[in-house]
Amino acid sequence: MPVRRRTAIFTSVTPPPLPELSNLAAGGTLPAILRQLSSLGGCTHPIRLDGHRTEYDVDTATGEIGRVLHQLNSGDLPAGQLLVRCNNRRTTRCPACSEVYRRDTFQLITAGLRGGKGTPEHVATHPRVFATFTAPGFGPVHNRCTDGRPCRCGTHHDQDDEALGTPLNPDTYDYEAAVLWNAHAGPLWRRFSTYLRREVGKRAGLLQRELRDHARVSFAKVAEYQKRGAVHFHAVIRIDGPGGGETPPPAWATAELLTDAIGAAAAKVRVDGPTIDGRAHKFVFGRQLDVRTIRSADFNDGQELTERAVAAYIAKYATKGAETATGALDRPLKFVAELAQLDISEHARRLIRTAWALGARKDLEHLRLRAWAHMLGFRGHFSTKSRRYSTTLGALRDARAEWRRAQAAPNEPAPETTYVLAHWVFARTGLSDAEAWLAASLEPAPGTEGEPTHG
Ligand SMILES: [Zn+2]
Ligand SMILES: [Zn+2]
Repeated sequence: MPVRRRTAIFTSVTPPPLPELSNLAAGGTLPAILRQLSSLGGCTHPIRLDGHRTEYDVDTATGEIGRVLHQLNSGDLPAGQLLVRCNNRRTTRCPACSEVYRRDTFQLITAGLRGGKGTPEHVATHPRVFATFTAPGFGPVHNRCTDGRPCRCGTHHDQDDEALGTPLNPDTYDYEAAVLWNAHAGPLWRRFSTYLRREVGKRAGLLQRELRDHARVSFAKVAEYQKRGAVHFHAVIRIDGPGGGETPPPAWATAELLTDAIGAAAAKVRVDGPTIDGRAHKFVFGRQLDVRTIRSADFNDGQELTERAVAAYIAKYATKGAETATGALDRPLKFVAELAQLDISEHARRLIRTAWALGARKDLEHLRLRAWAHMLGFRGHFSTKSRRYSTTLGALRDARAEWRRAQAAPNEPAPETTYVLAHWVFARTGLSDAEAWLAASLEPAPGTEGEPTHG
């Protein structure tokens, strides 16, 4: 992948903070500070830490701690503090870090489809599907008909019309149910996965507790916001043998059986919710369920859903929150009064206000609707996977740290022969004006920061 560099030094419209820059130049720390900033890989909101880290040699025979190998004191660093990437997964918050997150998710999904990163390659022959689960309707919304008919409002909406997905009549739209559905989407998914195992077992003539001796059902999923503000789930679902991805699935396990079982489980699953003002809420998936078999890339004729397309799709949505689809917020709200000042869609405002109002109720305390109002009530994880699906994001991060260490000091001893004593305390986040200006001057395009490229 070519490394593109922005020429911000020459094109930046913000004037350089000259006094701070000339101080750095006079102190001779400019090259060092540029080096420290470049280790952030373009992260613009790094976490700043005060503290130290000392690495000691360990005698492998006696286990005794020996001489100091490395010592790092934050005060000695050019920026005066240790700068660590923010690792925010949201594109709107940190483009550079979210790009790393997107690539990690891509690898994780791909490993579960094609093998790799500790998952054997024969998982590619296991039955697997890509399924999309939607929310039910909460009232009619503006939409585009594929058959040329206009929307119910009488107009033909453009593809990027802001009105799409928003209620035809906001006063009759069921905002309360919409927010509560999001708040129960996580439990609904968990119950679905139990039902799914039961349905798979039933089709194989097995009791639920017998299934695990024959097969395992694993998945990786991501949550995406529809334009109407409802969460839906995209999931890769796979049948393995009794030992997970390592073991071949039984002969009865086919993509058709899996598809059928998913349909049955999704239709049956239901979660009982709270009773509000005499109305008992219950939550189910919407009738729109899309299940497609994933084919291997090698047999793709351009029509089939490929492993690559699925991985790219899931990875993309792993870096987005409610802000992208619905024009809501990418961070928590502190006071409801802030809502009036924000430049967000009217529909998003109503969803957030509803979550805030419901969040005041004692009986809904466990849903933490105020803390999650900006997520329109959804407080689940954006991307989750069952333990046996493939590698973990943590493992990928460790591999990357290992790679960086090897790049920095190829002759360093393996970490298990050293003893590390470290103490760090959070100082603050962000960069100073001069640091930000310098960082922009060397910022590579997101995702090209000198790491091996995958996918
Ligand atoms: Zn960042
Ligand atoms: Zn319309």
